Amino acid sequence: MDDRDDVLILGAGVIGLACALELSRMGLRVRVLEQAATPGAGASHGNCGTITPSHAPPLTEAGLVARALCSLGQPDAPLRIDPRPDPARWRWLFGLALQMRPSAFRRAAQARAALLQRARTLLPQWLAREGLDIGWRESGLLLAFRDARALAAEQSYVETLRRLDIPVQVLDAAQTAALEPALRPDMAGGILHRGDAMLRPELLVAGLAAQVRALGGVIETGARIEGFELTGRRIRAVRTARGAFAGGHVLLALGAWSPPVARTLGLRIPIQPGKGYSITWDAQPSAPRMPLVLKERSVCVTAWTDGLRLGSTMEFAGWREGLNPVRLQALRRGAAEYLRTPPAGAPREEWWGWRPMSRDEVPLIGPSTRLGNLWLATGHGMLGVSMSTATAELVGQQLAGRATTLDAAPYAPARFGL
Ligand SMILES: Cc1cc2nc3c(=O)[nH]c(=O)nc-3n(C[C@H](O)[C@H](O)[C@H](O)COP(=O)(O)OP(=O)(O)OC[C@H]3O[C@@H](n4cnc5c(N)ncnc54)[C@H](O)[C@@H]3O)c2cc1C
Repeated sequence: MDDRDDVLILGAGVIGLACALELSRMGLRVRVLEQAATPGAGASHGNCGTITPSHAPPLTEAGLVARALCSLGQPDAPLRIDPRPDPARWRWLFGLALQMRPSAFRRAAQARAALLQRARTLLPQWLAREGLDIGWRESGLLLAFRDARALAAEQSYVETLRRLDIPVQVLDAAQTAALEPALRPDMAGGILHRGDAMLRPELLVAGLAAQVRALGGVIETGARIEGFELTGRRIRAVRTARGAFAGGHVLLALGAWSPPVARTLGLRIPIQPGKGYSITWDAQPSAPRMPLVLKERSVCVTAWTDGLRLGSTMEFAGWREGLNPVRLQALRRGAAEYLRTPPAGAPREEWWGWRPMSRDEVPLIGPSTRLGNLWLATGHGMLGVSMSTATAELVGQQLAGRATTLDAAPYAPARFGL
């Protein structure tokens, strides 16, 4: 057992790695424990790479639960719930439905906005400081609508963003066509988020991992966490497939895998996996200039100089692994409905990932009240890349006992008795 580390970080996704880099920069000795053969192989790999303060309003505003119930019989609906009985999933959905109360919605929107905006400020500073060239562009993001009624129905979303001081502009059909020639000419309009940005997520995680190592941090791959050894209310050691490790603090950053691992500590973390898919091609002709959300189909299109990705859809079907051809086909169909030149040829990669969806749509960041040296940084849902740097800053400041830039209370695991 190696007991020299200040912090053991469980999980080498974008959240674990961003925290590892921040803590390494603070001069702490960190060791990251990761089950996969490479860092960043979970949800942080094939996601859409959009950086979206515009996504501050929680999904519950858009009637998530009602839409999910309507889609029970549709295997290719953008949002789908597996109807098979699963008490944990249905309990979680019930909790999510309670978030539609106006006060809960406002609280979640403010907490998400604060973290997203802080992270949006920090991200370019981090990239410059670390010298990371990862396809970063201050591109903005355009939601494209084919149906005028669907665009009109977004009025309260637009008003929520204005109240949160997040840039938003509603465009008519002509403005949408002029802004993005890659779209078919029959769009009803769009919503433009000038403050959003994009990057290549797999390059971000590779870059973060390289910087952690350059600063002396250790990333143990193939180290599947199998259990914990406790002394009173403290974690004495983490048992993995590669042996046991000890550290002064233990930071759990396991994304959608957080609940099953935390159960072995007697903790119930209210997170369900929200499964999504992506398809990546090499660079395509007539690719969009900026990231797009093809709104009625909920498909995101991100084009970098060397590739194009279609991604998204949300499926609540438990921890079931693997690709679903029906849902991959829904991504392709969405692209064909909106783009003049949909991606063609054999894709480079078809991928699935689990978004760690917390019950109140706010991540859990901060110390556990149940175990003395346990910290959490998980539950970032659809926004882990966008929130990564501010999460790491908050963890670092709290762990050092310093004043925090953001009010830490809305993210405290204590709100779930954790
Ligand atoms: C289709 C799709 C599109 C998305 N698009 C965007 C986007 O455009 N912008 C954005 O901000 N976010 C987006 N997201 C969300 C984003 O991908 C996630 O919020 C983020 O990756 C979560 O990061 P994480 O580090 O918490 O989890 P993960 O990246 O999943 O990392 C968790 C790590 O823990 C490891 N692990 C699990 N169990 C164990 C164990 N027992 N022992 C050791 N290691 C273990 C896993 O292997 C994994 O590497 C998208 C997600 C999907 C699915």
